[in-house]
Amino acid sequence: MKVLLAGDSTVATYSQEFAPMMGWGEALAAQLGDTAEVINFAKPGSTTRSFMEEGLFEQLLEKVDEDALVLFQFGHNDQNPANGVKLNEYYLRLQRMIADVKAKKGQPILCTPVERRVDGNGRAVQTLEAFLPICRRLAEEAEIPLFDLNRYTFYLYREYGLEGAKQLFMWLGRGEQATYPMGSVDDTHFREKGAHEIARYVKIRLQEFLRQEPLFKKHYYGACMYPEVWSREIFEQDVVHMQEIGMNFARFGEFAWKTIEPEEGRFDLSLFERALETFQKHGIDVCLCIPTPTPPRWFTRKYPDALIKNADGTVMVHGSRQHVCTNNEDFRRYAYRMTRKVASLAVKYPNVIAIQLDNEFKCHVDLCYCDTCRTRWHQHLEEAYGTVDNLNKQWGTQVWSEAYDCFEDIVLPTRTPFLHNSSLMNAFRKFTALTLNEFAHDLSHFVRMETAIPITHNSAFGFNLMNDHLFADLDVAGFDTYPSADNYPAFLLNVDRWRNVRKHSNESLLLETTTSHTGHLENHVTPHPAGFITAEMFIGFAGNLKSFSYWHFRGHRHGVEQPHSAVVTAWGEPDMGYNDVVQSSKLAKEMEPHLMVSEYRKAKIAFMYSDNAKRFFTIDHGGYQDHRGLVTDYYSSLIKAGIRLEVIQENSDYTGYEVLIVPFVRWISATVLEKLQAFVAGGGKLILGPMTGDRTEELAWPDRNGLDRIGEWLGFSGVRQFSVKILLIREIIGACRKTWIDW
Ligand SMILES: [Zn+2]
Repeated sequence: MKVLLAGDSTVATYSQEFAPMMGWGEALAAQLGDTAEVINFAKPGSTTRSFMEEGLFEQLLEKVDEDALVLFQFGHNDQNPANGVKLNEYYLRLQRMIADVKAKKGQPILCTPVERRVDGNGRAVQTLEAFLPICRRLAEEAEIPLFDLNRYTFYLYREYGLEGAKQLFMWLGRGEQATYPMGSVDDTHFREKGAHEIARYVKIRLQEFLRQEPLFKKHYYGACMYPEVWSREIFEQDVVHMQEIGMNFARFGEFAWKTIEPEEGRFDLSLFERALETFQKHGIDVCLCIPTPTPPRWFTRKYPDALIKNADGTVMVHGSRQHVCTNNEDFRRYAYRMTRKVASLAVKYPNVIAIQLDNEFKCHVDLCYCDTCRTRWHQHLEEAYGTVDNLNKQWGTQVWSEAYDCFEDIVLPTRTPFLHNSSLMNAFRKFTALTLNEFAHDLSHFVRMETAIPITHNSAFGFNLMNDHLFADLDVAGFDTYPSADNYPAFLLNVDRWRNVRKHSNESLLLETTTSHTGHLENHVTPHPAGFITAEMFIGFAGNLKSFSYWHFRGHRHGVEQPHSAVVTAWGEPDMGYNDVVQSSKLAKEMEPHLMVSEYRKAKIAFMYSDNAKRFFTIDHGGYQDHRGLVTDYYSSLIKAGIRLEVIQENSDYTGYEVLIVPFVRWISATVLEKLQAFVAGGGKLILGPMTGDRTEELAWPDRNGLDRIGEWLGFSGVRQFSVKILLIREIIGACRKTWIDW
């Protein structure tokens, strides 16, 4: 393997006369050792322009072949006005360099610029933020990996503290180093320690990128475990039981924050260690969880402002789970520290095959209206819209005199006499999902400070998330699903969807499903009929699942979910569904050799599912439309007609399909429309609608022909929208010719 580096002084290799100054490229070469040939073309003072104009890129390009990974990191000097490089030039030059590397069959990797310790005023803030959206856009357009060194280093320095982080940089006392007799004060350039911390992260990201799929070399069958709840004896007895019935997988830890950090800053990972050793002894591989959904009482006592604030101004009290706002900076600080501790433990145990972030993001609390969210909301709007005039225009705030004079004026959508503006609601929900993803991606950085173990999350259909964006920065899709037997298409919809949520991978993990019936204090559900979970397991593995895991192995005696079925009861005896669990285990063993020599073959028909549309329907539902119900009904009718499907999303690759069905996707962006047109031009058959393309990105109505560019493409005019609940469809069809009917 060959690693070629393009960048500036923070990446460069230095001669002895500058020691202890070191760029992360030099440290990376040392860390990769014999495993890679590292050629560092980075030069102090480089901008994207000078790197090309001085011929450095040309020299680098000469070395590019199929074996080369080329890492780019620019920004520090491009930012200096004296160099005259505008943001647009930064974008275009990187775009060009990336394309040239690709043309020679090399693999470009884009890095956001490492952060400075502090800005010119001594504040620990992000100083290179302007480059981040450009890098993200470049990486997305070129479909290349993005290593977000900016975000990573920003939090790395915070771990060390404002003063402590000086040891990462060229802060030297007078006479401390012979090379710098007068000392040095430098918040940009690294000494060995800083360079190695960054190189270590880059190395882990490279390991992750180079990993061959499939990520999982076998199929996992098992259950969720709670070693923090049960005595050591009972726990060990259950692990033996798992092994006896052929299970090879367990997930644990997602709520155990109090166990591993019983008091602020005092970590005790012994229970996790013991559990991992016990699993290892009994041949059970593990998905280890980061327990951020349950911040302990010591945290909420110290930081009551971190608790979720409701729309009516009341504040959640401590208890249950997900009671703290994930945008709160105090919470994040503690969550990130704890994440790194868990990751550093995981790397010691070869039976940890995946790491799960948090648990069911947005499962209970959808929106938060706390002071942190208010500040972040205004920042988000300013970044997204640039000027308040633009925002007013996009949202159409002339209606009802809602126009705003400045970003700080914009309300959080709490209680009003009637409904809020649709675009405001949409923007607030989108803001919520994006900042949640930011939190998840930050957690990933802290895992990757320690290990390249695949990172996942147990998402689900029911929550307000942007899953394609969430999973783009994780390593494998994971999900929970609890359908009742009469709603079996919902199970299939899950399998068909989560397999496709990541763009270039089709593995997924089912992390929770029930052995028989779901339940909590206020809800008891009908048990599954015999054989149902065996059918689910069979179809799941055939549909490329890599794990099939029950929630949970032993029923709870306390808490909230006592009525929920498990493999064994709280008393350790077979629970309802036990026979099917054992039967399915035997079948899974029989399937394994066949699964290992076969590959999942994609269906030729794709069905588009959109999280944006889900968000739109949450707000614009007409009083009776329910996105999940509409999608499941449509999907069920196809499944029941014997049609096998891939459930894809807007940013998926449409090539290779013969038919593409796009229902209920209310906003079709210009990019998606181009892809659809290319699909049709290539001979694909496209079925649009119902309720497709009839809203703008801002959840407003289109300004041309009711369907905007789609209407123009299809030659529609005079489009009207109405509800079939109110008007008789026959009358309308009689009245309108060639009308798109929104039904
Ligand atoms: Zn909040």
